[in-house]
Amino acid sequence: MRKALFPGSFDPFTLGHEEIVRRATGLFDEIFIGIGVNSSKKTMFSLEERTALIEAAFADEPKVKVTPFQGLTVDFARENGIDFLLRGLRNGADLEYEKPIALINRQISENLETVFLISSGATAHISSTLVREVYRYGASLDGLLSPEVIAAIRKLRPE
Ligand code: ADP
Repeated sequence: MRKALFPGSFDPFTLGHEEIVRRATGLFDEIFIGIGVNSSKKTMFSLEERTALIEAAFADEPKVKVTPFQGLTVDFARENGIDFLLRGLRNGADLEYEKPIALINRQISENLETVFLISSGATAHISSTLVREVYRYGASLDGLLSPEVIAAIRKLRPE
């Protein structure tokens, strides 16, 4: 059984994240979307909200599980019998950022391979940081988040 972990903050979960996970369902039997919990990092959406938004995005996909985790990504992977880390690459800056992390993770846990998927032109410009700005000023989230995630935000935080 091929299990992958897609770790991140997902504050919030964007169409860019969603595209990577949907494409990865063709490669893996089970995909854990791991929401890294860092108590010193202030997020716009609470852990419960971020979980609910991702669950709304994958209500139709039984291969995808959403799970918060604390501590090292490699430890969470090992404890859950996961052999692959999944990451998305938007541009060269993402690659430079990801490369040393992947190398260190493999040094700590030699069976853990990081698999990178390059985002499509349709989503490569999307980041959670930009989405938070758009949301803060009340502009439309269409094209940045899936309709399911937008509906879930409206339900959690009615205007
Ligand atoms: P982190 O805090 O670990 O950077 P993010 O939630 O920002 O977490 O991102 C999680 C993963 O999703 C990372 O691999 C990141 O590169 C990838 N990602 C984010 N936005 C996109 C996008 N638009 N297209 C493809 N991958 C993306």
